[in-house]
Amino acid sequence: MYLKTQGLVLRVTEYRDSDAILSVLTREQGLMTFKARGVRSRRSQIKSACQLLAFSEFTVLERQEYYTVSEAVCIEMFQPMRNDIELLSLCSYFAQAAELLSQQDVNDGEVLSLTLNAIYALCKLKRPQPLVKAAFELRMMVIAGFQPMVDGCCVCGNDAPDRFDVAGGMAVCAKCSASGSLRLPISPACLAAMQHIVSCESKRVFSFNLLPEPLKELSDVSETYFLTQLERGFYTLDFYKSLRLTGQDLQPAAQ
Ligand SMILES: [Zn+2]
Repeated sequence: MYLKTQGLVLRVTEYRDSDAILSVLTREQGLMTFKARGVRSRRSQIKSACQLLAFSEFTVLERQEYYTVSEAVCIEMFQPMRNDIELLSLCSYFAQAAELLSQQDVNDGEVLSLTLNAIYALCKLKRPQPLVKAAFELRMMVIAGFQPMVDGCCVCGNDAPDRFDVAGGMAVCAKCSASGSLRLPISPACLAAMQHIVSCESKRVFSFNLLPEPLKELSDVSETYFLTQLERGFYTLDFYKSLRLTGQDLQPAAQ
């Protein structure tokens, strides 16, 4: 039986001489595994549609619960990312996170939309990498059922809390927070950005601006919260951060 579906390629695993196994997050059926025959040979017609982070329309043949790609047409390959190793590595982190979360009991459709919107914000709208990364992580936590409580201090109700309690997933005042838990500082601008990210409509997740200092706070809070709640690290994130560090080393020193 043939099945037609659109999906984003989240992982490509080489298989045999010229085949590959694709992990594809599809619109209609969530995360699926496709076998792509001959896709690594130079003459393959489906090569570009089957590459990592391509958004494509697949026609697959289902046989005994295995799916083999028979046709694939690339809808969007996000070309700017293909020429920029830093951008590609950040998007690969998004892909690894999206694959992990769609294996769990979360809404795949929302995971797919957020991931596509994040890549679009980077590649087409040229939004800053730290802003997109932080908003992706925090919004993904909302989708995964770990919505942080940021309306006010969760202890006294004060509407200007200045700390984020990472384990509790809640904003608190410095004076209200229990000792022993990890609390990161948040300025009013950072708090406002967090409120926007967790409650805005899905199209507007990346539509905000922050000055460098509150953006640094947001980056710390989002990444720490994401990794703490998921209780794991990501090799794609480690690689991305190693590139960012090397990049900083290469900047000329300020006079
Ligand atoms: Zn308080």
